[in-house]
Amino acid sequence: MTIGVFDLFSVGIGPSSSHTVGPMRAAQRFTARLRENGSIFKVNRVKAELFGSLGATGHGHGSPNAVLLGLEGHRPESVDPVAGAQRVGEIEGSGLLRLGGDHVLPFDGARDLVLHRRKSLPEHPNGLRFTATGNDGGELDSAVYYSVGGGFVVDEGAVGADRVKADETTVPMPFNTGAELLLRCEDADLPISGVMLANELSWREESAVRAGLLDIWRVMRECVDNGCGNTGELPGGLKVRRRAAELAAALTDQDDPMEWVTLFALAVNEENAAGGRVVTAPTNGAAGIVPAVLHYYARFVPGADEDGVVRFMLTAGAIGVLFKENASISGAEVGCQGEVGSACSMAAAGLAEVLGGTPSQVENAAEIAMEHNLGLTCDPIGGLVQIPCIERNAVASVKAITAARMALRGNGTHFVSLDKVMKTMRETGRDMKVKYKETARGGLAVNVIEC
Ligand code: SF4
Repeated sequence: MTIGVFDLFSVGIGPSSSHTVGPMRAAQRFTARLRENGSIFKVNRVKAELFGSLGATGHGHGSPNAVLLGLEGHRPESVDPVAGAQRVGEIEGSGLLRLGGDHVLPFDGARDLVLHRRKSLPEHPNGLRFTATGNDGGELDSAVYYSVGGGFVVDEGAVGADRVKADETTVPMPFNTGAELLLRCEDADLPISGVMLANELSWREESAVRAGLLDIWRVMRECVDNGCGNTGELPGGLKVRRRAAELAAALTDQDDPMEWVTLFALAVNEENAAGGRVVTAPTNGAAGIVPAVLHYYARFVPGADEDGVVRFMLTAGAIGVLFKENASISGAEVGCQGEVGSACSMAAAGLAEVLGGTPSQVENAAEIAMEHNLGLTCDPIGGLVQIPCIERNAVASVKAITAARMALRGNGTHFVSLDKVMKTMRETGRDMKVKYKETARGGLAVNVIEC
């Protein structure tokens, strides 16, 4: 296993992990590389090209702005969304970019930031190429990166060798399949969260794991609070009205858990669509589901506490690792089943564990949740992460709770294993036409007129 829970839950900005967070990381990484190889101050021009799904829907996902901020050295986990937007306006107004934050050079967006709507790079639907040239027009450096979902970025050399992430850490309880995960639990007599925690200790101490996860939980809560406070229309031109604040006001004297879960998810995904600070869980498009179900746990499950929050996230993380390693969490690779489906499955598993489920029941919860997201296409209207994404997160959050409760009613034995569902998801994604994979060229994206 090469992925840890903090790879799956990371703080970033909206609206898209693959189209905003990943491109910012790629641009920042290129800038860091120029600094490392000593050429940054010789650069006279830098050009960024976006391909495939990034080229087709990048404008709606804020990819150009993310690239500009990344070239200036910003990172998704620390960039201030409001100040970042202002800075992009300054770059466009002045025609000057601060490469790496300290090397000023002319930048003409029309010439230097190109979105190829119909061209793709060979290895992945989300490709970026950066080229730096010197005063004499000669190329100083060039690099290709792929944003492979969930904010993960690999460079050209890593594709194929390890499409996930180059991390050679050896963990004590490795697992690559759901069956192996259950075996680890049985052998060590641990819950799924216990196996995941044992592996996390390869990277950091238990107190740091706990503090880190509780900090992620804090950002999730802030995101819900922000979403419940902000009103108006979402950016991008679709004129989608934010609903969470109104719903929050309407629910103050009501205690229907499903209404609240819907609210929590809407709040997060509206913040995401507005380019706000969110937790990638495991992607931005599906960022509302894990927080909504965690809020359900914290608010409606008697005895809920911080230990439970940590166990929930570790369990959800273990399921996320399986999806990342065996199928995909990228809408551009396998459609929305990879984003909303994976998040739904992770949340169902997390909830099942903190409600007292055995490892088999938790695996069953993850399986049920994914089984009923199979085949879900990615067809965002206008290429914006708004319709169907925002409501889809709310529906999937309720589905995750239902899946957990169904699994807890059984004894853990079930007909379809999580491994079989993941295999089906991978194959369905492979068969899915490209137009349904985050290109905004199929489904709702072409059947609803933008106004
Ligand atoms: S439809 Fe699903 S995969 Fe596509 S952008 Fe929306 S949430 Fe992401």
